[in-house]
Amino acid sequence: LLRVRGLQKSFGSNRVLESVDLTVGRGRVLALIGPSGSGKTTILRCLNGLELPDGGTIEVAAAVIVDRAGGGTASGRGPASSASLTIDFAAKTSPKALGALRDRSAMVFQHYNLFPHKTVLQNVIEGPVIVQRRPVAEVTAEALALLARVGLTDKQGSFPFELSGGQQQRVGIVRALALRPQLLLFDEPTSALDPELVGDVLRLIKELADEGWSMVIVTHELEFAREVAHEIAFVDGGVIVEHGEPKQLLRHPEQERTRQFLHRLL
Ligand code: ATP
Repeated sequence: LLRVRGLQKSFGSNRVLESVDLTVGRGRVLALIGPSGSGKTTILRCLNGLELPDGGTIEVAAAVIVDRAGGGTASGRGPASSASLTIDFAAKTSPKALGALRDRSAMVFQHYNLFPHKTVLQNVIEGPVIVQRRPVAEVTAEALALLARVGLTDKQGSFPFELSGGQQQRVGIVRALALRPQLLLFDEPTSALDPELVGDVLRLIKELADEGWSMVIVTHELEFAREVAHEIAFVDGGVIVEHGEPKQLLRHPEQERTRQFLHRLL
């Protein structure tokens, strides 16, 4: 579904991404782990077109329309017109190409990033209606079904400050799903939550993974990464130092840097 080659990004003289290679298959979950400042968030932001990489390529496969019985949301339900997309960032990147990249994925942020002055329902329908120009009635019906799914029907008229962190993050996830992205990107989705609220959010992410959504998840929760991810990549110094199946990578890392990182956490 996604293939990234040689992705580079600097902020001024700070070279944050040296050269990142990664792939995510359709319906697969990739977890990114690594020390603070290693570039994990920057990778996600480049995938989502929130940052413009300095070099490298990103390829996204064409969307496949999956119409599952019962109308459940599933991966690959992007707009029917989503042909495959390849962007070479060494060349000048057109705003149109970046917009097309942005359309393919949806991000769930560490600090939820909900619009504070909009209600829960308005937060969810904003992107599909304003950016994707989909009909309000259709989007609203879908948003209400998604809110019901995460147990937040009675909060549709509430403002973010009236919700707990766990509820805000579930709205953040619903908002991402409402965009019908091909790829879901999670940036440390539970690290701002009180410990007792973490479980609900992780369970929801696990459910989405089981349904076949394709995801990249930046997380410090190694246990969760082991459970939900098909593959884990260890990021350090702006490169993927090592990647592999969760059990293999967490139990028998090949690289010394990975061993040291895991040793500090476990
Ligand atoms: P953490 O686990 O702490 O969230 P991370 O691995 O996600 O860290 P990034 O947030 O990608 O790391 O940051 C990598 C480096 O890039 C850091 O040195 C950070 O200061 C720098 N950086 C990130 N965003 C910007 C920006 N917009 N402008 C300048 N520097 C930035």
